[in-house]
Amino acid sequence: MDFALTAKMQDLLPRIRGFVETHVIPLEAGLSRGFWALVPELDHVRARVREAGLWLPQVPVEAGGMGLTLLEHGMVSEELGRTPLGHYAFGCQAPDAGNLELLLEFGTAEQRASFLQPLLDGTGRSAFAMTEPEHAGSNPVWMSTRAVLDGEHWIIDGHKWFTTAVDGAAFVIVMAVTDSQAATHERASMILVPTDTPGFEHVRNIPVMGEAGEGWLSHGEVRFRECRVPASNLLGARGRGFALAQARLGPGRIHHCMRWLGICERSFDALCRRAATRELAPGRMLGEQQTVQEWIAESRAEIDAARLLVLRAAWEIDRNGAKAARDLVASIKFHTARVMLSVVDRALQVHGAAGMTDDVVISHFYRHERGARIYDGPDEVHKSALAKRILSSYGSSSGAKP
Ligand SMILES: Cc1cc2nc3c(=O)[nH]c(=O)nc-3n(C[C@H](O)[C@H](O)[C@H](O)COP(=O)(O)OP(=O)(O)OC[C@H]3O[C@@H](n4cnc5c(N)ncnc54)[C@H](O)[C@@H]3O)c2cc1C
Repeated sequence: MDFALTAKMQDLLPRIRGFVETHVIPLEAGLSRGFWALVPELDHVRARVREAGLWLPQVPVEAGGMGLTLLEHGMVSEELGRTPLGHYAFGCQAPDAGNLELLLEFGTAEQRASFLQPLLDGTGRSAFAMTEPEHAGSNPVWMSTRAVLDGEHWIIDGHKWFTTAVDGAAFVIVMAVTDSQAATHERASMILVPTDTPGFEHVRNIPVMGEAGEGWLSHGEVRFRECRVPASNLLGARGRGFALAQARLGPGRIHHCMRWLGICERSFDALCRRAATRELAPGRMLGEQQTVQEWIAESRAEIDAARLLVLRAAWEIDRNGAKAARDLVASIKFHTARVMLSVVDRALQVHGAAGMTDDVVISHFYRHERGARIYDGPDEVHKSALAKRILSSYGSSSGAKP
């Protein structure tokens, strides 16, 4: 394994960092005004990203992107993750990035023209609706949303929530049961639903940690009531919904983890600045306290170790595919989330009361990133799957295939 930066990345990463610092971080001051108020400034920055040739880093060149490998995009993702607005500015924000990958890989020519192109152009947004309030999302095969084929149309009925960024999205990819009698993992399909379809209802943006959010920065509750879409809106093959979800999640976890490492580095930087400049008494610095020194040393080692693990997982996926890397992917999901939350917490603590305010980006990270241990599979599910596979290699019949 060689993670030395290629000449291309040696040139690219400082350019991206410089761009983020000059053009994106200054927009953070507007986060408390809400997403819609920020859109004109974000559009302006997006135009500059395109001019600089940095738009859609993870998308193949023939589709209008930079064509970076997963490992390369992971490194870019860390730079963008330093600010909550970085991925949006470069067109590689969740959930669009995952949806875009699904459409690129499984979409028909017609679906690409109608649904993918606006995502590539940055003129439209999308959402992904899988989790239901009535069922445990950690057991995704258990769901009530149904899609029934009626002639040339699917008729969809169901209730979803935590449909991130559905507010203002042009369409959602919904996971619905299409074949209730099939084998468990072949029951559901993915269907493209324009949000202006009669029967589709965006019920509300769910208040999260005291804030309902809006636009891309929100999580919605949605209902499908006899929602009718053309049969041709089926994404991929019928009954392949879970297979597609797996394809979406493997590389997606690398993106998330590298974004979290960007959050770690930004928070670590704030931690160290504060420790080096805050006086507890005239001439007595906060950084002289052994506890703070321990936080700095532990954070440095934890972030560096987490990065190596994530890069190794990306390297394995690039070479041998997501399945070969599944243990590494499970490990980085819970490990990086834990490292990030602990570094963010230490950074907040050294800021004292100021750390709680919207004057520092750390409070935004603290509120919005707690979900990292829950979405894309709660920590406990990943740990259990990993442990079972390890145990099975010791001959244990704990339920997992080696
Ligand atoms: C910020 C955020 C954004 C999200 N965005 C989306 C989105 O865009 N689209 C979408 O469809 N969903 C989204 N989700 C939903 C997410 O996928 C689910 O929350 C997740 O799958 C967990 O499901 P649940 O909330 O129903 O928790 P449950 O399944 O009810 O689990 C509750 C808790 O039980 C424990 N647990 C569960 N299973 C096990 C186990 N096997 N062993 C031990 N303990 C266990 C865990 O601690 C878990 O947190 C988002 C969630 C968050 C927080």
